[in-house]
Amino acid sequence: MECHKDLIAGAGPIGLACAISAKRRGLDPLVVDAGPVCGSIHRYPVGMLFFTTPERLEIGGHPLACAGQKPTREEALKYYRGVVRAEGIRVRTFTRLLGAERKGGEILCDLETRSGRTRVACGRLVLATGYFDHPRPLGVPGESLPHVSHYFDEAHASFGRDVAVIGGRNSAVEAALELFRAGARVTLVHRGLELGKSVKYWLKPDIENRIAAGEIAARFGAQVLHIDEAGVRIRDAGGREEAIRADRVYALTGFQPDFDLFRRIGIELDPETCRPRLDPETLETNVPGVHMAGSITRGRSISEVFIENGRFDGEKVFGDAGSRAQAEDLYRGVSRQVGE
Ligand SMILES: Cc1cc2nc3c(=O)[nH]c(=O)nc-3n(C[C@H](O)[C@H](O)[C@H](O)COP(=O)(O)OP(=O)(O)OC[C@H]3O[C@@H](n4cnc5c(N)ncnc54)[C@H](O)[C@@H]3O)c2cc1C
Repeated sequence: MECHKDLIAGAGPIGLACAISAKRRGLDPLVVDAGPVCGSIHRYPVGMLFFTTPERLEIGGHPLACAGQKPTREEALKYYRGVVRAEGIRVRTFTRLLGAERKGGEILCDLETRSGRTRVACGRLVLATGYFDHPRPLGVPGESLPHVSHYFDEAHASFGRDVAVIGGRNSAVEAALELFRAGARVTLVHRGLELGKSVKYWLKPDIENRIAAGEIAARFGAQVLHIDEAGVRIRDAGGREEAIRADRVYALTGFQPDFDLFRRIGIELDPETCRPRLDPETLETNVPGVHMAGSITRGRSISEVFIENGRFDGEKVFGDAGSRAQAEDLYRGVSRQVGE
């Protein structure tokens, strides 16, 4: 069986930063990612501008150069690809971690690639899987139709078409505005009676003015009943049903970490918040040798950790405290094997 001392699941900014922390200590971890390098950023809308300034997205001390004050999606992708090359990080893309179990002193990881499943062993597993590949489903019929997407990609193809955007937070508001400016007839459908409180301060007046002017249609307090080829059927707070025409539907209702994966590995999650049980110094979970990094360390509160504050997590995992914990753990493993 293939064996690695350290395996990191997730080649996003935080997983890569963890790999750098490991390499700076003479380790050579294998990083696997279910998609391409920085799969989440790759899924951002084309041309999207980060709200964070470049120096706060940097990892490993590599400078991020960008043309404007803030980097675009494309500049960030180029940057993180460059970091992988410069640091010589071993990355295996399109390789998903399906589960892991601890046996003796090893962690056995089940990986899935396009050519099938394999099992590899490692001494330490770091989960840095983010949340962006797990959309929160609406749970209504028609959600998996081909014209429905949980990701907003770009607006050009919607020129002159009817588009429904479901959601009331940043992603939905940004998509609605961009689609409107690209010439789409947009209806924003939101179950809340008003837009989310966290909508960026520069977007809020823009969307409110477009709605007030009737340029973007909006349905607040609306429950989506189902989606079909013709559009979206909703019920308003007064119980009235309405059919909204839509050639394209963006269901931008949020994301959450893959809690099922964590449970399969044996990580204890708080029943309400889904926060994992972690040692705050080493980010080691209750499963010895399995650590977590980035936004997944906060359960459902994914917006507590961004790239700018999650990028130092590797120092906890691979720093002095992390190494001490692993040494103690190895000792415990050996002790068990010799029957002490
Ligand atoms: C539209 C948008 C704009 C944002 N703008 C900013 C910003 O300006 N500044 C900022 O700091 N943050 C921003 N964020 C948040 C930021 O993207 C996340 O905080 C950041 O990506 C988290 O990094 P990560 O490495 O923990 O996870 P991710 O970047 O999500 O990376 C996780 C990786 O793990 C992979 N993966 C998932 N499951 C598995 C599995 N089972 N096996 C193997 N690989 C797996 C994924 O493919 C992905 O590549 C934004 C988010 C969105 C959605």
